[in-house]
Amino acid sequence: MPDLSQLPSIDHLLHQPEVQEILQSYGRPYTLAAARAILDDLREAALQENQAIPAESEIAGLIREQLEEWTSPTLMPVINATGVILHTNLGRAPLSKATREAIAEIGVGYSNLEFNLATGKRGKRAVHASRLLSLLTGAEDGFVVNNNAGAVLLTLSALASGKNVLVSRTQLVEIGGGFRIPDVMRQSGATLVEIGTTNRVHLSDFEQSLAGGEIALVLIAHPSNFKLIGFHSEPELAEIVETAHRYRVPVVHDLGSGALLDTAEFGLAHEPTIQESLAAGCDLVCFSGDKLLGGPQAGIIIGRQDLLAPIKAHPLARALRAGKLTLTGVSANLLHYLKNEALSEVPIWQMIALPLDAVQSRAAAWQAALGFGLVQAGKSAVGGGSLPTEEMPTVTLALAPPKPDAFLNGLREAAPPVIARIENDQVLFDPRTVLPEQEDPLLESIRQAWDEAHGS
Ligand SMILES: *Cc1c(COP(=O)(O)O)cnc(C)c1O
Repeated sequence: MPDLSQLPSIDHLLHQPEVQEILQSYGRPYTLAAARAILDDLREAALQENQAIPAESEIAGLIREQLEEWTSPTLMPVINATGVILHTNLGRAPLSKATREAIAEIGVGYSNLEFNLATGKRGKRAVHASRLLSLLTGAEDGFVVNNNAGAVLLTLSALASGKNVLVSRTQLVEIGGGFRIPDVMRQSGATLVEIGTTNRVHLSDFEQSLAGGEIALVLIAHPSNFKLIGFHSEPELAEIVETAHRYRVPVVHDLGSGALLDTAEFGLAHEPTIQESLAAGCDLVCFSGDKLLGGPQAGIIIGRQDLLAPIKAHPLARALRAGKLTLTGVSANLLHYLKNEALSEVPIWQMIALPLDAVQSRAAAWQAALGFGLVQAGKSAVGGGSLPTEEMPTVTLALAPPKPDAFLNGLREAAPPVIARIENDQVLFDPRTVLPEQEDPLLESIRQAWDEAHGS
């Protein structure tokens, strides 16, 4: 049994020169808390595991480590080598260079966020993005909130609280992260009127319900992350809109992904675009800023001005409105589309458009730099609730460490952490989702984890 009287008192410790130094950097309250935590641990280890009491300078080192751990950020950059382009757990879309620069330049200091420079009077924060959204899509107006879940909730609350909203049973979906259409509907105060069946809905179902005269809104929700196959049918969007408009009922399309470019041009299935929703006559379209738009997390509502006016004036709009960092980033990202440079500047579109031979040569360069691994064919995915069953051909670097799970852990503990995946006992690294500036750190982290996995 170690001699517990050897454990220094807090008071004594605080007078040690090493601890005095720590006090200078971290201040008294945190240093005291860390010292108490370490002394408790040491007492516990002595009693339970018979561990010897370390020297005072060693205890000072432990206190410093504790404080470093407490003050290091828990949120940090990672390298996405999974091949899933819009990885929700890894923060969805990485931002373009111009978007990062705009946020760093405009988003961080004073700006004319709500100040009209021409008149010197108060301005509206909504104008910055709405002008770009109108230019891009031809919609009358637009409004940016925190995310698309907020956009849908706000739209329903402002336009249909206490009223009936028509939704097809084919679209009563759960998107993930707790976003379920029926729950959002209930939260908004709107009453859900379901039509059709799980697999089929007909135009006559819409017609019958609308003819009852009690419907305030038709909501069309994109099924996003799941797919109905087999005995399934739904009317065309334009047919539904035409029917609803005959009864003077507006149609809101929760589009989810919000693509402005056509995924079908890159060998993928076609993901419905914002332009198509508007062309079909939808009165409002809601989508995310960080899915196929490839910008910061945001929810965007575009469409008719007379419908957006009550949305912008609703109390929830104040609660859900986007902050200046987001608005700066959303605008910078939208500009890429206006300048027709999305394919070369927006990272997720660069990844989607990356030709197979370019992926191949990056994987081969990694193999050459490391001196181990195999270059082999594989599959990437778009992710983020878009194109659920679609895969794109890719080329991966495949490694076969003795213990793949332990190697994967080692990669996650690297700085920066690397997220890869295991398939058939191989650990795969997909160049498609690794940002070019992350290649050197990636190789460094692989080398480290590889050496550890081989016990050197
Ligand atoms: C992703 C998605 C949402 C939620 O969007 P967030 O921006 O993640 O809040 C809502 N509806 C649909 C159809 C979606 O695909």
